Amino acid sequence: MKDYSVVVAFNAAFFTIFMLLLSYSNYVEARKSLRDQYSSPSFIALFINRAYSGPSHKGRVQYTVTNKALSTSGGVAFRDKIGAEYAKRTLDSATQFIWRVLQLNNPGDRKNVQKVSLYVDDMDGVAYTSNDEIHLSGRYVGNYKGDVKREISGVLYHEMVHVWQWNGNGGAPGGLIEGIADYVRLKANYAPSHWVKPGQGQKWDQGYDVTARFLDYCNTLKGGFVAQLNKLLRTGYTDQYFVQLLGKPVDQLWRDYKAKYGNIA
Ligand SMILES: [Zn+2]
Repeated sequence: MKDYSVVVAFNAAFFTIFMLLLSYSNYVEARKSLRDQYSSPSFIALFINRAYSGPSHKGRVQYTVTNKALSTSGGVAFRDKIGAEYAKRTLDSATQFIWRVLQLNNPGDRKNVQKVSLYVDDMDGVAYTSNDEIHLSGRYVGNYKGDVKREISGVLYHEMVHVWQWNGNGGAPGGLIEGIADYVRLKANYAPSHWVKPGQGQKWDQGYDVTARFLDYCNTLKGGFVAQLNKLLRTGYTDQYFVQLLGKPVDQLWRDYKAKYGNIA
């Protein structure tokens, strides 16, 4: 009998601790905000991050950061001004943010990605993503004038969208794919000051900031539009998706958008 009560007590204690941890981890997740990257995590948040970032925990993703440019000034700039730990935290907050904005609420809505790897490479350009690997240019980091931490955070949000977004089985316009990535970056308040202003641009699928601003307009017509468009992109692509979701052809929506801002160039 004595042994039995010890087991019961142990189980009760274990259960209580488990529920406390569970409620706290939900709390940590719920309070994740756009400003996540500006606050340093408390010890317990770090502990919980480790507790739930293991591959066995359903829906959690592992992140690795490998700086392959340490022999260059750009690689050293990444190490000193951004750092692997900050980059990992940013990759994680990007994933959480993307799941929320694109409404990928259940594991069944998402790609089956267990691990995302960031490489800092000695290369030209800014960054690219393929096969759940994000490649960031060390030269870009080293040469950037301004708030490099904020800029790279925005770049990582953009690239992480490529990890999670659907692409219409390869049939979606490249400009739309890049526009959705920059739309998420915009919503995360990481839009750089050199971006076009709302209403600027020549066509709806010009890509990047132009398309991001247009999608932002479309999303004001119907909340969750971008999330629903991305869901439709899981199986294929047709311009009719705009009619389906907003009741107007995309060219008409673009004309409305341009008119709203006085048809600026
Ligand atoms: Zn891109």
